[in-house]
Amino acid sequence: MNRPRAAYLLAFPSGHSISPAMHEAAFVALGLGHRYHALNVPPSELPEAIEALRRPDVLGANVTIPHKETVPALLDRLTPAARAIGAVNTIVPTLQGLEGDNTDAEGFLAAMAELGVAPEGASSVVLGAGGAARAVVWALCCAGADVHIHNRSAARAAALADAMSEHGRVQVVDKSELEDRVRSADLVVNTTSVGMVGTAEGSSPLPEGWLPQHGAVIDLVYRPAETLLLRRAREAGGLVQNGLPMLVLQGAASFQRWLGRPAPVDVMRAAAVAALRGSD
Ligand code: NAP
Repeated sequence: MNRPRAAYLLAFPSGHSISPAMHEAAFVALGLGHRYHALNVPPSELPEAIEALRRPDVLGANVTIPHKETVPALLDRLTPAARAIGAVNTIVPTLQGLEGDNTDAEGFLAAMAELGVAPEGASSVVLGAGGAARAVVWALCCAGADVHIHNRSAARAAALADAMSEHGRVQVVDKSELEDRVRSADLVVNTTSVGMVGTAEGSSPLPEGWLPQHGAVIDLVYRPAETLLLRRAREAGGLVQNGLPMLVLQGAASFQRWLGRPAPVDVMRAAAVAALRGSD
């Protein structure tokens, strides 16, 4: 019953992803014979790519930029996470058709747990209000944190807070209150692309000196491995984590959805680290 099947990444462009390295390493480590292929799918070809996932030899798929928010309309059903977040990063073939799921929130909470930060009752500041922020804010709300969102475009922060208010305690923080919120936070999460290779690289989403006094800082960026925000927080003696653990743990959660068994997380982490090194 271990027929080799294939999993796919639907992206545009797909060349920079480390998901193929992580999943192929996991398949090899478990002797499964499955393959993982990254497909370059322009938006106009997404419906056709989704139809092709209905073949019986398909294990499942990941979805990333720019398709995460448009793909739900093409699927047969959505999990509560995918519906609440408004985006799909994992597609699972089921007897009821193609199911869209979102493992980013689960990956984020698992990464937080690795860092040793408990979300329940934590005062958190989320910088950004894009796709990654939606998963992080939903995860924090559902896990019982107090969430304060700050974004360059205030209207987008307000829309996100509004959309997530049914799931927990969430509010917008404007620039005048941000420094105080950050200093007293148990957790600050950067979900903006500021600091990422190619996007305001070498910059920080927070002015120098704005750091939690006793809390942790998670930066979802993993290229580079240490952003300016993380370096400042580490040098100030704080607990820090980059985006790699979340990336690996959302991939491990996708693996588990497709195969119904736990992923070899350490194998996937080592493959991700090697792939990132190779792409520097
Ligand atoms: P997105 O939907 O395009 O959102 C980008 C966010 O960054 C928005 O809040 C945007 O603010 C803000 N932003 C961009 N440039 C800015 C600047 N110069 N100054 C201030 N704010 C700026 O992107 P996304 O999908 O959420 O991804 C965001 C980051 O998270 C990326 O670095 C991505 O690699 C990372 N990520 C990591 C993981 C992981 O597993 N580690 C998962 C998902 C995403 P406006 O709304 O004002 O434009």
